[in-house]
Amino acid sequence: MSDSNDPRRYVVIGGGLAGLASAVWLAEAGKQVTLLERRGRLGGRAHAMKAEAAEDLPDNGQHVIASGYHHLFRYLTSVGTRRFVAFPDGGTLRWPDGRSATMRTTGLGAWRTLAGPHPDATALDRVRTALATARLGWQCLRQPADLADLTTAQWFDRVGMPATAREAVWDWLALGIAAEPVHQESAKVFADVLATGIRLGIKDRKGVNIGYPTTDLDSLYVTGALEVFARHGVEVRHRAVARRVHIADGKVTGVALADGSVVPADAVICAVPNANIGGLLDELPEHPEIYAAADKLGYTPIVSTNLYLDGPLGTESEFEALIGGTGVIDEVFDRQLMTGRSTERAWLYCLTTSGAYEQIHKSHEEIVAEQLAMLRRYYPAAATLNVVQAQVVRMPKATFSQVLGTHGLRPAQRTSVPTLALAGDWTATDWSATMESAVQSAARAVDLLLALPSES
Ligand SMILES: Cc1cc2nc3c(=O)[nH]c(=O)nc-3n(C[C@H](O)[C@H](O)[C@H](O)COP(=O)(O)OP(=O)(O)OC[C@H]3O[C@@H](n4cnc5c(N)ncnc54)[C@H](O)[C@@H]3O)c2cc1C
Repeated sequence: MSDSNDPRRYVVIGGGLAGLASAVWLAEAGKQVTLLERRGRLGGRAHAMKAEAAEDLPDNGQHVIASGYHHLFRYLTSVGTRRFVAFPDGGTLRWPDGRSATMRTTGLGAWRTLAGPHPDATALDRVRTALATARLGWQCLRQPADLADLTTAQWFDRVGMPATAREAVWDWLALGIAAEPVHQESAKVFADVLATGIRLGIKDRKGVNIGYPTTDLDSLYVTGALEVFARHGVEVRHRAVARRVHIADGKVTGVALADGSVVPADAVICAVPNANIGGLLDELPEHPEIYAAADKLGYTPIVSTNLYLDGPLGTESEFEALIGGTGVIDEVFDRQLMTGRSTERAWLYCLTTSGAYEQIHKSHEEIVAEQLAMLRRYYPAAATLNVVQAQVVRMPKATFSQVLGTHGLRPAQRTSVPTLALAGDWTATDWSATMESAVQSAARAVDLLLALPSES
C-alpha cells in the first residue's frame, strides 16, 4: 500500500543487495517504488546457480556473514529469512602436511587464536604475537597519520607481527576482509574495518563472529524481497538497463533506459557497482569526481569453484582455510555441514580463491585440475575421490579494489541533488567491499530520501 501523503515516484536502479534493500525499505515506508534491473534476475553479485547434473542450487561464490552485519540482519528481518544464518564455533586452518589448527572468534578460544595458532609457533612467537596484536588493535582505534601510505604487509612488519602469526591468521584475515593480497592492500582500509569490528564488539559485548547462510543466496535474499514487493505493490522491471538519470532544476525527473523509454521519477537511488556508473550521472554536477573515483577504485578478481565429489573430503569444520594453497588465500566450504544437503548424488565443496589475479586467466579445466590437486595435498581422503561435476565462476570484477592509495575515494550516498542518492558496496560505509557495505549504503540512501521535505 503506498503512502497517499507522498505522491513521489521512487525509482531504484540495480537489483543487487543495495538495490533490494533500498526498494524493500522504501516500500515498507509506504512509498511508490519501481526497481530497475538490467539482468533477468535479482541478487546482483550474490545469487544462486543451478548445477544440473547434481540437481543442486549452489551459489555463484560462497558468501560469509559477520555477526556485526547489523544492516544485513535488518534486511533479513524485513524479508523474513533471518533464521537462515548460522554461526559455528569456529573454523579450521589447514597445512599441506596434514596439520591443522582450530580458529575461534569468541570466548577464550579467540584469545588463543589471536596469540598465534600456528603449529610451529614457539612460546616467544606467541608472546610477540599477543603484543603485536594489541599494538595492531590500538593503532586501529588511534590510527598513525601515515597509515594510508602503508600496505597491510608494511603495517604488520611495523607492529612486529611474527611470520607464524601472519601465515596462520593475519595475512589470511586481511585478504578475506579487503580482498587484496597484503603486499598491495591499503593498511588504512584494513584498519578501518578492524576498528568497526572492535567498536561493534564493545557495543554488542561479544567478539565479531563469522557465520554463513544455511540456504542458497536466492532463498536468503530474493524470495522474501519478492514477497515484500508483492505486498506493497513494488514494480520490478527486469532487463531494464538504465542509461541516464535525468535532472532538471536540481530535481530528478526520470531515468532514461537503453530502449529509449524514460521511467518518470521524483526520487532515485542509484545502486549500481562502480563498473556500471559511467554515463548514469552525467547530469549530476559532481559526476566527473564520482566517475574518476569509480575508475581509480578498480576491481579485484575472485574465482569460485563448486566441486561435486563422489565421497567426503574429511573436513573438520564448515569452513577451512588452506594455508599456502595456490599462493593466495583459499577457503574450502563444506556445504553438507553448512546446509545439511543430501549426499545421495555427490558431496559439494565450494572453494574460493580471493585476489585471484593469476587464476582468473585460466580455463575451466585448468582451474578444476588445480583445485583438485590442491585438495589432494591437504586432505588424504581426496586421493581417491573423483569429480562428479564442477562449476567454475570467474569474476574479474568481483569487488572494487582496496589497494594502497584507494582510501578516501568512495563517494558518499548524498549527492548535490537532494532527490538523488547513491548506494552500492563501493560507496562510503564503515565496511570494505561486503554485503554489509551494500546494505548499509542502502539504509543511508533510504534515510536521505525519507528525510526529504514534502515540497522537494
Ligand atoms: C565470489 C564473491 C564472493 C563474495 N564473498 C563475500 C563474502 O563472503 N561476504 C561479503 O560480505 N561479501 C562478499 N562478496 C561481496 C558482495 O557480494 C558484494 O559486496 C555485494 O553483493 C554487492 O552488492 P551491490 O548491490 O552493491 O552490487 P551488485 O550485487 O553488483 O548489484 C548491482 C546490480 O545493479 C545492476 N545494474 C548494473 N548496471 C545497471 C543499469 N545500468 N541498469 C539497471 N541495473 C543495473 C546489476 O545487474 C546488479 O544486479 C563477494 C562477492 C563475490 C563476487
